[in-house]
Amino acid sequence: MLFENLNLIKPIQRALKAEGYTKPTPIQQKSILPILEGKDFLGCAQTGTGKTAAFAIPVLQNLFNDKITSEKGKRYIRALILAPTRELAIQIEENFTAYGKYMDLKNTVIFGGVSQSSQVRALKSGVDILIATPGRLLDLVQQKYIDLHHIKYLVLDEADRMLDMGMVHDVKRIIAEVPKVRQTMLFSATMPREITKLVDSILIDPVRVEVTPVSSTIDTIQQGVYFVQKKNKKSLLIDLLKDKSIVSALVFSRTKHGANMITRYLDKAGINAQAIHGNKSQSARQLALNNFKEGKTRVLVATDIAARGIDVEGLSYVINYDLPNIPETYVHRIGRTGRAGLKGIAVSFCDEEEKEYLSDIQKLIRKVIPVIEDHKYPVEITEPVVNRIKPKNDSNKKSNSNSYSNRRKSAVKSNGFKK
Ligand code: AMP
Repeated sequence: MLFENLNLIKPIQRALKAEGYTKPTPIQQKSILPILEGKDFLGCAQTGTGKTAAFAIPVLQNLFNDKITSEKGKRYIRALILAPTRELAIQIEENFTAYGKYMDLKNTVIFGGVSQSSQVRALKSGVDILIATPGRLLDLVQQKYIDLHHIKYLVLDEADRMLDMGMVHDVKRIIAEVPKVRQTMLFSATMPREITKLVDSILIDPVRVEVTPVSSTIDTIQQGVYFVQKKNKKSLLIDLLKDKSIVSALVFSRTKHGANMITRYLDKAGINAQAIHGNKSQSARQLALNNFKEGKTRVLVATDIAARGIDVEGLSYVINYDLPNIPETYVHRIGRTGRAGLKGIAVSFCDEEEKEYLSDIQKLIRKVIPVIEDHKYPVEITEPVVNRIKPKNDSNKKSNSNSYSNRRKSAVKSNGFKK
């Protein structure tokens, strides 16, 4: 299927061409027509699947086609997109700008942690599309800078993450302010019970689409795990990054303090790195992200929340310096690479204390992550870390064999991956 088959208007087709998009991704193939028809939509999709364009393209077209009945020249916020983090909100806004660049629609983004004055100025000049994090949005609604009564299109992106971050109460308050007659779209990588409840209360007979469920890591990503003692992780990281073929790498740290520490250590070793996490000011985060995107910084060290929404074209390497204790987070992390069908590599460092996390991750993704043994700091892990991985189907049983010895046999015997 091509974009031409999706009844898209010329200005959007032109913009997609300018972006270099030719084929809609699976979620886009299934979302664009129903959303253009005005249906509510529930997308179970993680980042990297093209989910932003899956709602941004049809929302832009619907806005373009709507007959505006407002007073001359005055714009009202007609589409509202809620996102859990500033990085994701900025990313979404960039997508709206890109896909809508040949249309006379205005969008802006608001988020907390920065002064509100430039955001208020942008709002006063009139916008059609508002992308917002819930807290700042409510704040500006209360200050009467934002009127939600003209909203016709409401999108909740990464709803599960909003829930995790304790934003559900704010989200509900926002929804109460938005007109009941509207089109609602909700995207979530996972569908815990609370999300299902939210879906039932705010979506009407939605079209449901699920692509690459969070438990199935994207096949184009090669994964590997290094067993290493905590104290040797820094040296192992430096060894890996000595490989010049790694043009850019995103390194994940569980804590902000850890991210700073890793960055300092890399800097000392002459490896150009910057950190991005919640304790940094918004401008410092944006600068670090831009430097990374432009290739000025080779290594970006991030915490999970700060990394949400980071979208770096062609990122080929993700390193989990710490394993996350929530297995879904692993899937989100490695989804930073291997985007839009590109190849990616994701390696993880696992110390003795993290083997339980590894076990949980492998159960979730129903895959055994090959062990990379050929490095300077090998360590024996005393217990099987893999147990009771239920294969997806019987034919997978062999390759997904759950015995420790088999896993050891499947260890990759090169420094990294077979080329
Ligand atoms: P998302 O899942 O929305 O974060 O998108 C992941 C990446 O895929 C972004 O870099 C998008 O610009 C890119 N992308 C989205 N749709 C397409 C498409 N149809 N063709 C090529 N790249 C795309």
